[in-house]
Amino acid sequence: MFVGHYSVAFAAKSKKNEIPLWVLFVAVQFLDYIWATLVLLGVEKLRVIKGFTAGSMLDSYFHPYSHSLIAAITWSVIAALAYKPLCSWPGYGYTKSAALIVGVTVFSHWVLDLIAHPRDLAIYDNKWKVGFGLWKYRDPEFALEIVLLACGVIIYITRNVMPTIREGVVVAFGIALVIVQIGDTYVPRNPLTDKQTAMGVWIFYTLFVILAFSLEKVRSRRKIVSL
Ligand SMILES: [Zn+2]
Repeated sequence: MFVGHYSVAFAAKSKKNEIPLWVLFVAVQFLDYIWATLVLLGVEKLRVIKGFTAGSMLDSYFHPYSHSLIAAITWSVIAALAYKPLCSWPGYGYTKSAALIVGVTVFSHWVLDLIAHPRDLAIYDNKWKVGFGLWKYRDPEFALEIVLLACGVIIYITRNVMPTIREGVVVAFGIALVIVQIGDTYVPRNPLTDKQTAMGVWIFYTLFVILAFSLEKVRSRRKIVSL
């Protein structure tokens, strides 16, 4: 699962919970940030094999600290608890329900990975591996990513009042994510090394976080003129 994770970030945002979209973009990929960091440190192990599954080259044969069920629950609780102090730093509004939403959003990563991954997600440590393996079926997996993302974007626009110009930017961002997914799923390429893949995760995910941050700064032209 790749851009499909962002559907949860878009869907979770509301005027009431006031969670910045960029925070939710970090939250939905929080487990992968930990994974990429641990792969770079040589703690978690990854093989990148051309044709490993139809939809992915990643053989994540050892990632118990980022992607086991117990680890996912632990990181979700930590994220929910960390949300309050993190809010006070830039002066964001905080509510208990928002912290809960951040925690659930972090955990959503594991649920969506469970659908796509082959049986490489351990329940605990590196044992009892599960995964429904939708990555073995390239087109259905791609379709699921896109349908999820489209639903997320529609929910985001419906739940949050925003200037028309920002609605347009949100749709453009969604289309850009679809193009990235097309590239990831369908454009043939030689496998990167494990460390290059982990660096790519950091770079791309952070780029998306910056775009999500910028997106919520977009105001209508009329509003700027009236200021
Ligand atoms: Zn993952």
